[in-house]
Amino acid sequence: MNQGWFVGVSAVVILLSGCGKEESKWNSFPLEIYADKTIAEDPEKSADFEAAMAFWEAKAGRKLFEYKGVWTGGSPFAGAAGSVEAIAANVMFYMSPWPFSETVAGQTTSFQKNGAVQSAVIMINPEMHFCSGDCTGFWETTSQRNTYAHELGHFIGMTHVNDNSNIMYPTVLRSNDLTTIRVDSSALQALIEK
Ligand SMILES: [Zn+2]
Repeated sequence: MNQGWFVGVSAVVILLSGCGKEESKWNSFPLEIYADKTIAEDPEKSADFEAAMAFWEAKAGRKLFEYKGVWTGGSPFAGAAGSVEAIAANVMFYMSPWPFSETVAGQTTSFQKNGAVQSAVIMINPEMHFCSGDCTGFWETTSQRNTYAHELGHFIGMTHVNDNSNIMYPTVLRSNDLTTIRVDSSALQALIEK
């Protein structure tokens, strides 16, 4: 399909659609990651982000992320959101205007070279009606914490599954309890082993 490098894209959707088919693996962990001001300066979004990182690290049994704080370097990538030419740094950010379908809550795009992921960005839909934390009393909205966790799954290289109790199910899970949400442990270990 290409000569040595490609950009992999995957998305989490409210309505189901196809995405997340590319295998992708980093050379080493933990991965440096930044967050934009929208996330880093908002206590609820920051808490959801920290909880989503902790979710994966608990499942992996090791440190996966090195949170570097707020990203101040402008757009973290060159090119259009759907076809980036390069990614300057690993950043999770609210992408405005949102260039994808309004039903897509988030999208992770990675830049790969020589069979390994070099960098990746997580784009979150600023128009989505998100609820933070355990979403108590906000059952008609989409779990921001689960969305972050799903996209962080793509970020580390996980792909979609058909199990609707697994965080990598293509639709954002409605469970308010991250501790009861499953992952494919063998797929996770295969990604992080050296
Ligand atoms: Zn997805």
